[in-house]
Amino acid sequence: MATTHKTRMLIIGSGPAGLTAAIYGARAGMEPIVVQGLQPGGQLTITTDVENYPGFRDVIQGPWLMQEMEAQAQHVGTRMMWDTITDIDLAGPPFRAVGDSGDIYEADTLVIATGAQAKWLGVPGEQLLSGKGVSACATCDGFFYRGKKVVVIGGGNTAVEEALYLTNHAEHVTLIHRRDSLRAERILQQRLHAHPKISVLWNKAVAAFAGDPMAGGLKAVELVDTVTGEGSRVETDGAFVAIGHAPATSLFAGKLALDESGYIVVEPGTPKTAIPGVFACGDVMDHTYRQAVTAAGTGCMAALDAERFVAELDFATGQLTQA
Ligand code: FAD
Ligand code: NAP
Repeated sequence: MATTHKTRMLIIGSGPAGLTAAIYGARAGMEPIVVQGLQPGGQLTITTDVENYPGFRDVIQGPWLMQEMEAQAQHVGTRMMWDTITDIDLAGPPFRAVGDSGDIYEADTLVIATGAQAKWLGVPGEQLLSGKGVSACATCDGFFYRGKKVVVIGGGNTAVEEALYLTNHAEHVTLIHRRDSLRAERILQQRLHAHPKISVLWNKAVAAFAGDPMAGGLKAVELVDTVTGEGSRVETDGAFVAIGHAPATSLFAGKLALDESGYIVVEPGTPKTAIPGVFACGDVMDHTYRQAVTAAGTGCMAALDAERFVAELDFATGQLTQA
């Protein structure tokens, strides 16, 4: 039988953004519910070493960090639900969400923290070698390629920025693009072409990633020339796939403003959407930084703003009752 769960604060998503919002919301007495979705703990549960989340001298493991965050959220009074939201009604408050389980969630305020997923090429070896030489985040993993050779796949701003960033660590960076011109901004292109550590391979598509996850990881990328069809191979220690990200926002299409890449539009510098009482935090509203710590930071901001919204709602309701 479907159950209706009522809460002051509903959080959709259990990554760093959602769980941080939960910790703050719970400590403010809002007894939040977190609906976890298909990836409890979010993106960090599919990585190993995390070396840039503050507070830990030694390298920590992504899944461990997320277990700790969840335990902390529960410890202060968060209810975690094994469910995925499949429909949402933003004509609140109360806001109303329907879970895959059939359960209904009603809340005075809503925090959206559904994240974004890196797009992958879907070629042989990619999944097998993910975390063993194949990555989609230079800021996260670039450090592990000090003095090594890496390739970056893509031709947009992200690919060029990742290539430039990787020159801080790697001995050489090869950008591999499927066409003969980049779509990245001109200034980034100029920096790319001027950099002595970067070379570009034009008109090349990755056909496969070669290597053994149990023995040294990635060894090479197999390429196909998109003009001539000729095959080639580039030996490399690391490959960064930078062909874009897909924010998890299909649920909100037509209900909230999304930008041209599908990210939720918020008031600059805040987690506020155009609907009072509905907040968005983490990767789902941030196509620039996309880090665990920035997700946690905006999760905190969303909870603080949600708390203010609920206080104002209570005040307005109290005034109405008195009148
Ligand atoms: P996510 O972590 O993406 O979480 C989204 C959550 O929303 C998930 O729990 C999902 O189940 C849930 N969800 C989605 N749709 C629904 C729905 N309809 N109903 C209910 N729930 C839903 N960052 C770093 O700072 N350092 C690193 O070293 C680092 N390494 C990384 C390695 C990898 C392989 C990847 C992929 C990312 C890495 N990142 C790293 C980036 C970091 O993981 C993200 O920036 C961060 O997880 C974003 O947090 P988030 O809470 O916004 O979203
Ligand atoms: P993007 O602009 O969509 O570029 C994706 C790149 O990957 C394109 O060059 C595309 O090739 C290539 N690509 C896509 N699918 C591919 C596939 N299957 N195989 C091989 N190559 C593939 O994505 P993005 O670079 O992540 O940028 C997303 C948005 O964020 C953009 O609006 C961008 O301006 C913005 N952004 C801004 C900044 C900044 O302002 N500093 C930084 C990062 C991102 P084609 O060119 O052939 O289509």
